[in-house]
Amino acid sequence: MNTTDCIFCKIIAGEIPADKVYEDEHTLAFLDIMPINPGHTLVIPKNHHENIFTLPQETLGHMMKTIKKISMAIKESLHIENINLGMNNGKIAGQVVFHAHVHVMPRIENDGHILWHGKPYGAGESAKIAEQLKKAL
Ligand code: 5GP
Ligand code: ZN
Repeated sequence: MNTTDCIFCKIIAGEIPADKVYEDEHTLAFLDIMPINPGHTLVIPKNHHENIFTLPQETLGHMMKTIKKISMAIKESLHIENINLGMNNGKIAGQVVFHAHVHVMPRIENDGHILWHGKPYGAGESAKIAEQLKKAL
């Protein structure tokens, strides 16, 4: 299932160029065109799925296998032992390309990228949220 106007489907099809680093039956890994640091890689499923909500469990499993391979390759070849994994799902979460992808992002000391900052729950709020989540599982 591919879509004709999806930029990542076009990369899979070889219709637009990309620095591909790994490919198997289910997944493709290629360098992000605007890396947060050199080696920033995107891991995508070969079938078009929009994001985490529509991605089959099995496909996510295939992606995780590739993510591990890429992480190990970054460690061994670029000698980087700090990596963030990220997946933006939905517009508000920062998703720009609507073909599911996980960012494998090498981190370098003092690279200037800032991590998330949490904010505490109000009284009783966390228990309520946990209950809501549990009911949905
Ligand atoms: P998102 O915000 O959707 O999680 O991230 C999309 C990512 O895809 C961005 O980091 C962006 O730099 C990357 N990207 C967008 N278009 C292209 C492209 O044509 N080629 C490559 N290699 N990366 C792209
Ligand atoms: Zn696609």
